[in-house]
Amino acid sequence: MVDSELMLGKLASHGYIITDKMDACDVAIINTCGFIEDAKREAIDIILKACDLKKEGRIKKVVVCGCLSQRYARTLRKEIPEADAILGVDNFKNVEEAVKSVLDDKSFYSVAPPEAIYTDKDPRLLLTPAHYAYVKIAEGCRNRCSYCVIYKIRGDLRSRRIESVLSEIKALSAKRKLSELNIIAQDTTSYGMDNYARAKLTSLLKKICALKRAHWVRLIYTHPRNFTDELIDLIAQEKSICKYIDLPIQHINDRILKRMNRRIKRRDIELLIDRIRKRIPSVAIRTSVIVGFPGETDKEFDELLAFIRDTAFERLGAFIYSREEGTPAYRFKNQLSDKIKRERFDRVMSLQQEISSRVNEGFMGQRLKVLIEEQDEGKRHFYLGRTQYDAPEVDGLVYVRSDKVLRPGTFADVKITDTLEYDLVGKAV
Ligand code: SF4
Repeated sequence: MVDSELMLGKLASHGYIITDKMDACDVAIINTCGFIEDAKREAIDIILKACDLKKEGRIKKVVVCGCLSQRYARTLRKEIPEADAILGVDNFKNVEEAVKSVLDDKSFYSVAPPEAIYTDKDPRLLLTPAHYAYVKIAEGCRNRCSYCVIYKIRGDLRSRRIESVLSEIKALSAKRKLSELNIIAQDTTSYGMDNYARAKLTSLLKKICALKRAHWVRLIYTHPRNFTDELIDLIAQEKSICKYIDLPIQHINDRILKRMNRRIKRRDIELLIDRIRKRIPSVAIRTSVIVGFPGETDKEFDELLAFIRDTAFERLGAFIYSREEGTPAYRFKNQLSDKIKRERFDRVMSLQQEISSRVNEGFMGQRLKVLIEEQDEGKRHFYLGRTQYDAPEVDGLVYVRSDKVLRPGTFADVKITDTLEYDLVGKAV
């Protein structure tokens, strides 16, 4: 999303007109994902759709960029010659050159090892609703999880300078009234370990909060290994930081964690979660897990399931292990069948459904502060919103009934009157 916003910012600053209608443009730019099988398939479907539109003469050119083209540049060039330009992940730097070139009927190919990270000087055209924005504080990853191809696609950790992040936030908030800032990176807790030679996330967050430019500051993608007590205390004390912790554990069995190269053990994860829950009493913890990792036995999977049951994560996403070429785990023996992986995925998800229902039932009758997102499909008096425990796009919603008109981006006090598996229902009071 942020990369697309940077490309659009660059193009808009050169006078190009932006549309989101793929069949009504001169140049379709497809910013792809490519880190697991499903994402690759989806990206290829869209590229082929754009190429069909080009064949039918409804659009002129197709530009492919992002993770898939970074990873499979040569293959794409060979297999999809209808694509007029192929760019990698540093696409915001040369997208304008590429568009200009294809409009001059010259193909454009530029995929180099990733090295860029944007600064406050790069224009961005935000695609999020007017009341929130994402700010990417670092690019790439220094961890080497054995199943993951992201660091190969996006390169090693490159953190932005603190001043650049702060000045970007000032500029964003000067343009729109931000209710929520979402702080992202591939691994936010490693922020600063490259350019500052030590973890700098807490000092960055303190400075972001001191700016007072957004009511909520939400931290996303925090690797448990680098989650410090200082960070826990800051989240506990700082009013504007959402009491929401996105802590991808991926597994809990020590043998699997080791083979995943997560560089953390079950005991450390347990202690961390204990500390978080003790010091931030109302916290919602989100995690993600991978099921069907090569060699995962029934017993190891049961251990994961039992851990999920006992810990009762407020939010959880499960991924079916995707065997990615170029990763160490690709060569691991005992790759599991799709059937086993799918069964395990279904078992995790149905367990989480029960947990989520129970967690939501606990909110019955409570008054929660809800960020109003939009009117519910134009229905009068009905709105969709989120609590601080829900990140945009990935978590649940609150269906709000209100006699008064509620504007998107404002906060409402909502009394919860009903609960669903993943969502809440309430009335503005
Ligand atoms: S921390 Fe995340 S992005 Fe980095 S290697 Fe591990 S899974 Fe991949």
